[in-house]
Amino acid sequence: MSLAVETLKNLLKQIGKPVRLMEVCGTHTVAIFRQGVRELLPEGLSLISGPGCPVCVTAVEDIEKAMEISGKKNVIFTTFGDMMRVPGIKKNLSEIKAEGADIRVLYSPIDALKIAAENKDKKVVFFATGFETTSPSVAATLFEAEKRGISNFYIYSVHKLVPPALDALLSSGEIKIDGFIMPGHVSTIIGTGPYEFISEKYRKPSVITGFEAGDILQGINMLLEQIASNRADVEIQYKKVVREEGNPKAVALINEYFEPCDAYWRGIGTIPLSGLKLREKYRHRDINSVIKIETLFISGPQEPKGCSCGEILKGLQTPDECPLFAGVCTPENPVGACMVSTEGSCAAYYKYRGHK
Ligand code: SF4
Ligand code: SF4
Repeated sequence: MSLAVETLKNLLKQIGKPVRLMEVCGTHTVAIFRQGVRELLPEGLSLISGPGCPVCVTAVEDIEKAMEISGKKNVIFTTFGDMMRVPGIKKNLSEIKAEGADIRVLYSPIDALKIAAENKDKKVVFFATGFETTSPSVAATLFEAEKRGISNFYIYSVHKLVPPALDALLSSGEIKIDGFIMPGHVSTIIGTGPYEFISEKYRKPSVITGFEAGDILQGINMLLEQIASNRADVEIQYKKVVREEGNPKAVALINEYFEPCDAYWRGIGTIPLSGLKLREKYRHRDINSVIKIETLFISGPQEPKGCSCGEILKGLQTPDECPLFAGVCTPENPVGACMVSTEGSCAAYYKYRGHK
């Protein structure tokens, strides 16, 4: 390990200026903290967390709509557990459940299909959140639903796509990032192609990296090597899992059921073609097409007063710079979404260093 750190130091010396790298993925944020990677980094090298936690970026409006759907008669609403405490305007799904809504927490969308098969008199809705990592399993569940003719299974899709979000961050010109540590899991599905614009359009290097400390240090090393030699390529450190072409079968499955649409990201705003909606052919699986949802589009930021989630998701601030951090806002009483998810930057800072 110390050899790797020495190499980083030498590369930094060669570069001759401070370097800021963004870890796009929430799992990297946590892995970096948990394994003490930050402590190993030489002075002048900083890591910034990005928008890579699907829980954190789910819009307040979508939480509000999810709560409205859950409260409808004859609806069973199903979701991953980490969405339960994401704040809406006044309440969260957990509170709506305590008030009597039939909300069930699942580990996989296929469990929602099982519930639908067993409750034919109810509309069973799956809250389809997540990035390219989770959309293939939702598509596979839709395939099963169609095949088995389970007509009372629906989704509420708030799926998001990673590359358009990075494009939006880079084109805003606000962030000062010298390179990207790219998500390991998302890249397993999409491969390197969708990141190429980062090197071509913005001349920034990126490296798809694994999650062990050694992987992360090697990924950082590869980024520094690119910067030192004035290159901007998309490279793979995580070769045992990620292939350049990704997983074409999974991509084809996503494309069969979904098409890109504009999506609102909490704290960031609307990013063109950064979400996934059901294709016309499968619109009968969209809960929006069968029940009337009254919640209107809430324009503008809806984050709680004083919460800096938006700045944090854009890499403009660190959690400990938020005035509410660790005082008013804690994992037990999260004010913003970044403190809710275990992959959220604020929760990671709180757990691993910030609140002492
Ligand atoms: S879904 Fe996977 S790749 Fe995406 S942020 Fe979470 S852990 Fe990272
Ligand atoms: S500490 Fe809490 S209030 Fe501040 S940005 Fe993080 S989640 Fe939002």
